[in-house]
Amino acid sequence: MTTRDVPTNGEKTILITGGAGFIGSHLSELMLNLGHHVQVIDNLSTGSLDNIRHLLANRRFHFARADVTEAVVLDRMASKADIIVHLAAAVGVQLVVERPVHTIETNVMGTDHVLRAALRYGARVLVASTSEVYGKGTRVPFAEDDDVVLGPTSKSRWGYAASKMVDEFLTLAYAREYGLDAVAMRFFNTVGPRQSGSYGMVIPRFVKQALANEPLTVYGDGQQSRCFCNVQDVVRAVAYLAFKQELDHRVYNIGGTDEITIEALARFIIERTGSQSEIILVPYSEAYAPGFEDMQRRVPDTSRVHEAIDWSPSVDLAQTIDMVIEHFK
Ligand code: UDP
Repeated sequence: MTTRDVPTNGEKTILITGGAGFIGSHLSELMLNLGHHVQVIDNLSTGSLDNIRHLLANRRFHFARADVTEAVVLDRMASKADIIVHLAAAVGVQLVVERPVHTIETNVMGTDHVLRAALRYGARVLVASTSEVYGKGTRVPFAEDDDVVLGPTSKSRWGYAASKMVDEFLTLAYAREYGLDAVAMRFFNTVGPRQSGSYGMVIPRFVKQALANEPLTVYGDGQQSRCFCNVQDVVRAVAYLAFKQELDHRVYNIGGTDEITIEALARFIIERTGSQSEIILVPYSEAYAPGFEDMQRRVPDTSRVHEAIDWSPSVDLAQTIDMVIEHFK
């Protein structure tokens, strides 16, 4: 990854909650490469020590195994931070549907703790949100100020979306009411090495299945589509936002713009792995716990982030899939 072009304004201390997770570990790496001090707080619930083991020996890296709701630990780390990137959250459709209480509580309480800590010490804070908040919207591409249509409260997936919406409301409210230097980032489907397939994410699942010559499990009719963005591009956008001098306190979409159906994705992965696998269609009712609805298309409008930090993705899907294949080999 080229890090040369990320303007950093001197040596900073960055606190990354969820820094042992998939996106967090890549962000930690980037920040260390840029010469900064990185502090990670992670309870290792979905993150893993394996993701950051290679960073532990770095003297500019500090890791605390703790929950963001552990006030004393969070306070100590926040007191040293210039910038806080709040990534710790319950994520992954499968986890979210299977553990709805944990999901809502983790997301809302975690963000509340982090925003309070940022306010106490005057740190800039970037709060991770998700394209799930676009819910059942059908008018793509999705822009940040579009109206949002969620499904009913009886379906757990929308509880996840609503919890992240509360996180966004809270972030913008702290900025407006208390002058906190805060933004929210709506991540679209992000992919790359270290992403686990255990919580539903489709690309690591398909790559693993293809490498094992097992059938690729396409849910529904496979005509639903997504835009995938390489994690290296995503963390580069986060770094640009983190270090931008004057940052508008808004929500920013961060995602890829090349759309692909899940069936086409499965075929593409079979081709790139040279696998003998076949594709099977699995009804949603078998794939997920009750309380699940999928969305048909999800395409970001990235003009706001492009305008703010002159960012657009640089790694294409073929390269990304090859990185994931390499990781699992
Ligand atoms: N999906 C699939 N097979 C799998 C896992 C996921 O067909 O083994 C589908 C899923 O139903 C969704 C898309 O792939 O339509 C992307 O799923 P993922 O969980 O990666 O992200 P989402 O966009 O749902 O947050």
